[in-house]
This record gives sequence, C-alpha cells and structure tokens, in this order.
Amino acid sequence: MAEVVDKDILRCSCCGLTAVKLEWSCGCVTVSYDEDAPACGDCDNFRDQRESCGKGGWPGD
Ligand SMILES: [Zn+2]
Ligand SMILES: [Zn+2]
Repeated sequence: MAEVVDKDILRCSCCGLTAVKLEWSCGCVTVSYDEDAPACGDCDNFRDQRESCGKGGWPGD
C-alpha cells in the first residue's frame, strides 16, 4: 500500500481553482480537484501532472 510522501496545493492563477497534488511512495503522482467546477485551460494542466509508477493500481482511488 503506497503512502503519501509529499503534498502540494496547486492553485490556478487565472480562475482560482485549487487542486491537491499528492506524491506517493511508489512513484505515482495524483492530482485531485473538483472535476465539476468550471475550469480554464490552465486547470487542465493539473491533470497533466498526474504520473503513474507503472506498477499497476492507482493510489488515489
Ligand atoms: Zn504507483
Ligand atoms: Zn483555471
């Protein structure tokens, strides 16, 4: 079971939406935010920061 090793709060500079970025001990990076909130183009970049360690499973679920 992966554990959180680092936590970051991302904030979109134009629309103000915030996201929680978590780095996991296995190497995965998850970014979660309110998917239903109105998002600008920069917010979509939050999703691009997600990374998978490739070991299968997704710690954010
Ligand atoms: Zn992982
Ligand atoms: Zn935004």
